[in-house]
Amino acid sequence: MSGVIVHRTYRHKLILAPEKEGLCRRIAGCCRLVYNCGLEQRKLGYAATGRGIGYKAHTYFLKEAKAAEGFEFLREAPAHCLQQALKDLDDAYTRFFSGQNRYPRPRRRGENDSFRFPDGDPKQIGVHEPGRHNQVRLPKLGWTAVRNSYPRLARRPWNVRPEEWEGPRLFEDELKSVTVRREADGWYVSFCCEVELPDPGRGTGEAVGIDRGVANSVAQSNGEMFHLPVITEAEWRTIASLQRIVNRRRKGSRNREKTKGRLGRYRQRLARRKHDALHKLTRDLSRRFSLAAIEELRIKNMTASAKGTIEEPGKNVAAKAGLNRAILDQCWGEFERQLNYKMTWAGGEVWEAPARNSSNECEACGYVDPENRESQAVFVCKSCGHERHADVNAANVVLLRVGRGEGKLISSKPSGGTPGRGETTPSQRAKVRNACEDPAVLKTPERRGPSRKRTARAQATSTPLAA
Ligand SMILES: [Zn+2]
Repeated sequence: MSGVIVHRTYRHKLILAPEKEGLCRRIAGCCRLVYNCGLEQRKLGYAATGRGIGYKAHTYFLKEAKAAEGFEFLREAPAHCLQQALKDLDDAYTRFFSGQNRYPRPRRRGENDSFRFPDGDPKQIGVHEPGRHNQVRLPKLGWTAVRNSYPRLARRPWNVRPEEWEGPRLFEDELKSVTVRREADGWYVSFCCEVELPDPGRGTGEAVGIDRGVANSVAQSNGEMFHLPVITEAEWRTIASLQRIVNRRRKGSRNREKTKGRLGRYRQRLARRKHDALHKLTRDLSRRFSLAAIEELRIKNMTASAKGTIEEPGKNVAAKAGLNRAILDQCWGEFERQLNYKMTWAGGEVWEAPARNSSNECEACGYVDPENRESQAVFVCKSCGHERHADVNAANVVLLRVGRGEGKLISSKPSGGTPGRGETTPSQRAKVRNACEDPAVLKTPERRGPSRKRTARAQATSTPLAA
């Protein structure tokens, strides 16, 4: 039985000599110039004729630009990368017109330093060649060393002779594209691959409701809480003081660049700490549950500017700005994105329920009253006297709403998945509904042990459909 086909990215740090790093900067600069000029052309073209310029016409201009006087430096960049920059612009417009994204903005130096090779053709990209362990051959850059960032890419085992050793794989399955990108601590290469994952099996069949908040990042319907390592007050102060030093230094000076680098690396470390915790949380959820119910959040509306407009100035500006920062720091959108794809890979589903009054509704009797919520943490129903942690109550309400059929499926169907997978979901849904009709199931939450044991047992008991 075939598994699920997904796109996966394997990222490694590039080890670059100074002259190669300079070349990377120049290539990224060429791609940025092409992207930004393309954006300008589209704007001007639209203003003059009422029509935009398509990708094909743009690639023709690219040929002209390379031949033009003063733009000879464009020839230094690989032609594919420049074309890809225009393709990216075209995609950005497509997403804008379909309402997915905002209007494309110009790329900026220091923030969008990247270029992409759009195919994994062995003529373009050289990898996994004997005697070239941990190296990648990129057009114009030649063979470049790559750092192993995964434990599975271990060193040569002691009992394998050097000439027999094939070396660690930088990625798995079929290579689709390669992206080189600069981050605060150096350049990284990402291999985007089409990977066939093993059949996820039937999963645990368990459902969970999730409430996202600021005091508790994630509260689960079974009573578990999760706190994300967000940026602390002391860390905000460090960021602010570094930013002040940057502002004080003269523009273009070496010291300013040095402090900027320090600030960038500091922020990167904080972001990585948080993303690590998020990945662990979402992986755990996707292994333990086959269905996750989350409430619909309007992050954009919630974090709308505190200042308001000139006609209607906002109230409590400082407090609102602080809350905005706290909400954005929780990475709710990123949590949802990770949960969606991990549930899809594990054969599960994510459902979204309307969020209206979810924190004021009683999970036991359905009575809605803002008075029910006595404080941030305490929920006591004014109708039936039901007591619960307020966030856990909200998580259960979300699960109940999905069980009643008020929600909608938001995780995508796995492509090339087993036909049996889709058929198992109605029974899972029925299971949620049963759980919802029998409040006792929800009232006595089962505390779970370490997830690893649980998963191992689940794997042992569940049999693949056609194994
Ligand atoms: Zn009640």
